Amino acid sequence: MHGQRTLRRSISCAGIGLHSGHKVTLSLRPASANSGIRFRRSDLGGLEIPATVSHVGGINHATGLARDAVTVDTVEHLLAAFVSLGVDNAIVELSSPEVPIMDGSAAPFVYLIQEAGIKQLSAARRYLKVLRPISISRGDKRIALYPSDHFKVTYSIAFDHPLLRHQSRTIRVTEESFVEEIAPARTFGFLEEVEMMRQQGLALGGSLENAVVIGDTGVLNNALRFEDEFVRHKILDVIGDMALVGRPIIGHLIAHRGGHALHTAFAGRVLEETDAWTLVDAPVAPAATSPVILPVKDAVRVVN
Ligand SMILES: [Zn+2]
Repeated sequence: MHGQRTLRRSISCAGIGLHSGHKVTLSLRPASANSGIRFRRSDLGGLEIPATVSHVGGINHATGLARDAVTVDTVEHLLAAFVSLGVDNAIVELSSPEVPIMDGSAAPFVYLIQEAGIKQLSAARRYLKVLRPISISRGDKRIALYPSDHFKVTYSIAFDHPLLRHQSRTIRVTEESFVEEIAPARTFGFLEEVEMMRQQGLALGGSLENAVVIGDTGVLNNALRFEDEFVRHKILDVIGDMALVGRPIIGHLIAHRGGHALHTAFAGRVLEETDAWTLVDAPVAPAATSPVILPVKDAVRVVN
């Protein structure tokens, strides 16, 4: 059995919202077993929204949640960090409606979670194990889940821009691979879109400090963190959006040219297709994880 986990202690930081441009204080707090990830608005008397697909609200270059009149925006990078680091239960307290963008990646959230520490809870964690393919598509955008013994993500992107005509990557998502290969990948956008977004009241907090900006001939930032940082960030986004199913997934997710709207629609579809998956207590069959007990003679031979 893999037990559920939460944070060992509370931790806070300050930042700004990418789209709103507002200052925000973010506090991550421990929570009890089976309570999941819940966003709490301290500026609205502590009203809460569970991070589940049934509360998906506005999708506009970021994933938002809504419950009655309460909203929280840009939840995806933080959710990706929680699910990948195996934090099942936590309260995310915000002093304004948008999760701070930090440096545009999930690395600062990984740092916060690691600083807070992780605590085991006595309840079992249940994984959603995919039994048969599930997919949706919209035009040339497609996303699917296939049976696999591990959580893997394959993402491909294609843009009409010389810098990222096509990028594709497959990763088996573990705590280690997420921290090293995915979490540091930053949000990106095209320079020609920035002015349009600002006219719509978006990207007001955006800068080269928290996003990779792509101009006609290259990126405006000094350097990329990875040669294929863009597709790695799409993997980060889809991990965070799929966390809205409320459980870690065991399956191979394959997405082509997705975005938050497609990702979150797919998370909803997965929960609807209840015959396509089952809930299990461990990521692999117990027999495969049991230590192999060798007779003493064989053990000695192995060591030698
Ligand atoms: Zn993102």
